[in-house]
Amino acid sequence: KFTLANRVQSLTPSTTLAITAKAKELKDNGVDVIGLGAGEPDFNTPVHILEAAKNSMDEGFTKYTPSGGLPALKKAIIEKTSRDQGINYAPNEVIVTNGAKHGLFTLFQVLLNEGDEVIIPTPYWVSYPEQVKLAEGTPIYLEGKEENQFKITPDQLKSVITEKTRAVIINSPSNPTGMLYTADELKAIGEICLAHNILIISDEIYEKLVYGAEKHVSIAELSKELREQTIIINGVSKSHSMTGWRIGYALGNREIIGAMTDLASHSTSNPTTTSQYASIAAYNGSQESVEEMRQSFESRLNSVIDTINSIPGFHCLKPQGAFYLFPNVAQAAKLTGYASVDDFAKALLEEANVAVIPGSGFGANDYIRLSYATSLAQFEKALDRIHKFVEEKV
Ligand code: PLP
Repeated sequence: KFTLANRVQSLTPSTTLAITAKAKELKDNGVDVIGLGAGEPDFNTPVHILEAAKNSMDEGFTKYTPSGGLPALKKAIIEKTSRDQGINYAPNEVIVTNGAKHGLFTLFQVLLNEGDEVIIPTPYWVSYPEQVKLAEGTPIYLEGKEENQFKITPDQLKSVITEKTRAVIINSPSNPTGMLYTADELKAIGEICLAHNILIISDEIYEKLVYGAEKHVSIAELSKELREQTIIINGVSKSHSMTGWRIGYALGNREIIGAMTDLASHSTSNPTTTSQYASIAAYNGSQESVEEMRQSFESRLNSVIDTINSIPGFHCLKPQGAFYLFPNVAQAAKLTGYASVDDFAKALLEEANVAVIPGSGFGANDYIRLSYATSLAQFEKALDRIHKFVEEKV
């Protein structure tokens, strides 16, 4: 009876949905499914943050806030960025958004005209292409090759730049690969972006989840020019285990941030007030729990990386951040007689009862994504099931 707008008719539903729905159906039928699809930390939000949220409600702070966020939260974000990245921003260079995801959505809305191109390195986070398309932009995919740790090179970047290129997305550490760009790599990419006036969108949502001797570097901290050329996207979701609170932020050019704020004033009005008070405590309070959660993820990663590589036909680079493993399983799919990794992932769910996300959703068909934001015992049990499944079929 009703015709939907063209813009949503071409939307690709999140690939994780099909698997999640199927996993739920199996669970409802009493099957013991282990879900490794989660995109969120499995810890509760730290207690001092919960307390701050409760106190703000008791004190009556339950009304609208400025569209761009509470001044006290902007101040906390500015101080966090000065502390961690060594970069200074003014309040009109900051917008608090309803999660990092809506920050990105708003950014593309204010940045793109029809046909404007955004360079998206693959494997990518599922929402980038859809958000670019919703803003009438054109995603230009650039393959981050496994032999280069899934990262794009400066030469690759140069080869896809056109008159219509407006922005490039850098997601470090990456979802789904967990890879991290070094300062030198970022500098080389940054120089090209400066030369061609391409906006750098730096999605740093996994900034706090970095392992081993690695250190997170923001491209914006490398020079004054790169700070001007970059919009940083970040938030409390992954760092403080606050995915459900929906608080993120964008930092950068005041005209862009201003336009995003104007758009927010007509769309969201403001990010949830209680969540903003919680986030002030997240950034101003002790960061001990952030570090504890990071250590927990790191020890899980170190416990499972060899086990996953011992599964026949699996090859997994050791991630340097985030909480995902992204093994190449093309060989395993072939060995076990499946025509594609999608079919292999479907069989893992139906026969081994382990839910993983096929890489096709991230623009990388030979891979699967497993999230270790789950207890080590469950994760090890899942790997054991996968191992047995593959061995029996080979
Ligand atoms: N960017 C990346 C790479 C992500 O993986 C996610 C969440 O999965 C987000 C952004 C969105 O974060 P938020 O929950 O703050 O919207």
